[in-house]
Amino acid sequence: MAQEYDLVILGGGTGGYVAAIRASQLGLKTAVVEKGKLGGTCLHAGCIPSKALLRSAEVFSQTKKSEEFGVISGEVKLDFLKVQERKQKIINQLHGGVQHLMKQGKIDVFHGTGRILGPSIFSPMPGTISVEFENGDENEMLIPKNVIVATGSRPRTLPGLDIDGDLVMTSDEALQMESLPSSIIIVGGGVIGIEWASMLSDFGVEVTVLEYADRILPTEDKEISKEAQRLMKKRGIKLVTGAKVLPETMEKASGVTIKAEHKGEQKTFSADKMLVSVGRQANVEGIGLENTDIQVEKGFIKTNDYYQTKESHIYAIGDVIGGLQLAHVASHEGIVAVEHLANENPSPIDYSLISKCVYSSPEVASVGYTEEEAKEKGYNIKTGKFSFRAIGKALVYGESDGFVKIIANSDTDDILGVHMIGPHVTDMISEAGLARVLDATPWEVAHTIHPHPSLSEAIGEAALAVDGKAIHS
Ligand code: FAD
Repeated sequence: MAQEYDLVILGGGTGGYVAAIRASQLGLKTAVVEKGKLGGTCLHAGCIPSKALLRSAEVFSQTKKSEEFGVISGEVKLDFLKVQERKQKIINQLHGGVQHLMKQGKIDVFHGTGRILGPSIFSPMPGTISVEFENGDENEMLIPKNVIVATGSRPRTLPGLDIDGDLVMTSDEALQMESLPSSIIIVGGGVIGIEWASMLSDFGVEVTVLEYADRILPTEDKEISKEAQRLMKKRGIKLVTGAKVLPETMEKASGVTIKAEHKGEQKTFSADKMLVSVGRQANVEGIGLENTDIQVEKGFIKTNDYYQTKESHIYAIGDVIGGLQLAHVASHEGIVAVEHLANENPSPIDYSLISKCVYSSPEVASVGYTEEEAKEKGYNIKTGKFSFRAIGKALVYGESDGFVKIIANSDTDDILGVHMIGPHVTDMISEAGLARVLDATPWEVAHTIHPHPSLSEAIGEAALAVDGKAIHS
């Protein structure tokens, strides 16, 4: 028999399960349909497993350098299966936490594939959903008043660059490796590619990154990309920018060989394995969009500022709508969508207030406009920069590469963007996020007196530097 709900969410990833919790807080009868595991990409094939591996890689590489700290540790060995076990333990613990939250919120979870059957809003049963079970159980039919599509995304590849899951992998397969290759080609120098480059290099793998743009992390501020590039090269990572990979030249034997056009020449690159990290495509297939008037543009579901699709009772959030494909964005979009359908009058998200992080070594974090974007938008700007080399805590940590850069509007004094590269900047960026939310000026940030010694002193000094008043430069 069909069950009725106020809200049915297709996909229990970061966007979907957070939306479900908010809906339950608002007293809505809610169900989540999840074909894989609650927690989605972020928990099982993204943020958490990649950061667990990055942390092991960091510990491995730092332990090798421990003599610098006066700690004599003997021969340092890597047990990669233990690294993977640790990763899985963390995932299992967090997965248990999400399951508990669903129970606590009295949210019904259907483990199956969901598909929208109901035609348009004009149907007497808007957005009817079928849940299909792989184990052969009879399909369920759900009749929701509202639907949120949160089906996420999957790795993209280049046409002709076939993923075999072994020699040629995406991040999905790379996360499951049981042993490390001795060398790897990474196609794509965006966030995911650079995190893998950093991690594998720390594990001792010889890494070559082939990036089509003229710099790695091409969406970051130019100065930050340049510094990331310099520091990664210093670590021995081979970065080839302006390289157009030619998929048709790929040859596989015991390893992988591929050609790329670089500076007008065809160059050959060889390694044990290849990781393709060229972006992610939305999961829009097989979910019944053809039974609706929902529009898909450039592969992503189109919505308004409150995440309503063309069918106003069907919302879409997270990676499936494109934009910033980040976990905290998906979950916040979920909250806005639920509050909107519950008539709670939420404010639309201002995407220029969202912090973005790269968990490489050194880390990169930013919020707001890059210098290039601020200029393009016509702002008169002033900038302040402060290096971690003059920060006592950075020297104590033995990690003094990088800097903080603040871009401010020279007419109004508002902070337009903050960009950081260096130690623990992914944990420091939220101060800059708050400054942007509160329309703070560099003066206000500088007068948020930063404790000494702390890495955050670099933010205070960069804020002073905007008006040429940095103390330690
Ligand atoms: P997903 O998390 O992909 O969840 C979608 C869910 O829908 C899945 O569980 C899927 O099984 C389910 N589903 C799909 N179709 C159906 C269907 N028909 N019926 C039922 N269920 C269905 N972001 C960050 O913010 N920080 C990071 O450090 C970070 N690191 C990353 C590292 C890697 C290697 C990758 C790949 C991604 C990373 N991301 C990171 C991005 C982040 O994982 C995504 O932005 C986030 O998971 C998007 O959430 P979502 O809910 O939109 O989709």
